[in-house]
Amino acid sequence: MANYKRVLVAVDLTDDSDQVLQRAVDIAERNGAALHIIHVIEIISFAYGGDVPMDLTSLQEQIDKHANERMKAKAEALNYPVEETLVATGNTEEEIHQHADKISADLIVIGSHGRHGLALVLGSTSNGVLHGAKCDILAVHLKEQG
Ligand code: AMP
Repeated sequence: MANYKRVLVAVDLTDDSDQVLQRAVDIAERNGAALHIIHVIEIISFAYGGDVPMDLTSLQEQIDKHANERMKAKAEALNYPVEETLVATGNTEEEIHQHADKISADLIVIGSHGRHGLALVLGSTSNGVLHGAKCDILAVHLKEQG
């Protein structure tokens, strides 16, 4: 099995993230790897084609603040040292690829809902990250909660 040195785990900060983080911690622990965690905030005006006729600055600031707080709480709850937490802004797949390149990640860990039907046709974050990745990808199959 590969000996991973830098593991980048991508989280959407929902409760599903805990399953993804735990798997990343297990692998990092076994390999003595540095653990990096990334969350990406999609810019609201970009999501609507940059054509929103109102000032979304304060909403965007609240989303940033909330994401940073959730990221901190998730990182602190892990029983493994976290090398870095990053809340980036932009396109999710692009930011994950760029950061993986920047830190020379040798493994990206990401959640996968194993969708089917229309949702599969529309694609998912894990599909997007898989395409164009320059390192190994582990898609953690997310179990239904509750
Ligand atoms: P989804 O395609 O939305 O079902 O998300 C599947 C997985 O992609 C999640 O479990 C995360 O690992 C990752 N992911 C989704 N959204 C984000 C995000 N905004 N930032 C970082 N990772 C994400």
